[in-house]
Amino acid sequence: MKTIKKTSLIMSAMALGMLFACSKDDSAETETSKEAISQPSALNKECSYVDAYWSSNAYLNSTIINTTQTNFIYAQNTKIASVFGQAAVTLRIVHDDSNPNSTYNAISYSYPKKIYFGEAIYRAALAKGQIVPAMILAHEFGHQLQYAYGLPSVSESTARPNELEADGFAGYYMRKPSGYNATWAAAGPAFEFAYAIGDYSTSNPGHHGTPPQRRSATRLGWYLGEYNLSASAFDSNFFYYYNNVLSGSYRGARPSTVTDEMDAFINSKMEELRKINSGEIDGTEFGKLND
Ligand SMILES: [Zn+2]
Repeated sequence: MKTIKKTSLIMSAMALGMLFACSKDDSAETETSKEAISQPSALNKECSYVDAYWSSNAYLNSTIINTTQTNFIYAQNTKIASVFGQAAVTLRIVHDDSNPNSTYNAISYSYPKKIYFGEAIYRAALAKGQIVPAMILAHEFGHQLQYAYGLPSVSESTARPNELEADGFAGYYMRKPSGYNATWAAAGPAFEFAYAIGDYSTSNPGHHGTPPQRRSATRLGWYLGEYNLSASAFDSNFFYYYNNVLSGSYRGARPSTVTDEMDAFINSKMEELRKINSGEIDGTEFGKLND
């Protein structure tokens, strides 16, 4: 028996853009038999069963839409990992020909390490721009960093810190010159589509943070992308600002990885971050912020 942790990014196929809900749960089951396709060159429909998180007709392969998209997302998979000094984890695309909307999800699994990206959510994301599927993948890889390093260091009764930190990792990746190297003009609206949706089910175990919280988390991660941080340093720095400063409730000791220069830089952005977090800067304005 192995413990499987999974975090999923779910969006209602019926209400595009209305909801992103993730669930993170532990379940005890034997995973090995379900990892039916493990070779990158695997072709369509070698397997007709993925796992319990996908429909019974779902199958895995390593292609999405066309060669251009396939090459893009696999290159992103490698690049995202490399920005964090990691080897890429297995990435597979989940398809369901009989009910395509059932693949409106992306899941990051802790063991074995892998990310399953549903075709339906990929297509919907791509419709909003090439940057959006990359952002979703970066968020999912953020969960891989959490699994690998025992993050986040902050624990709550819901998935909120896990999800906000994953949003932050995605923001970090988007800014990094060695990563996606996006402008905010491209990244901001994409974040707004992908992650700023949030939810207000603050006592639900799958709570991802409210839309303003998710926006401020991605924006903070974006600013931290100005620096080279390990996953663990990112975590301590992210929560130092997000948890202790942005909330206004408590300021803990400054992590040793926060330099004076970094502290001055992030503090210079704090008023903006607070306004995002309070909703004073709304979703439309969020997408128009400066780099
Ligand atoms: Zn997530």
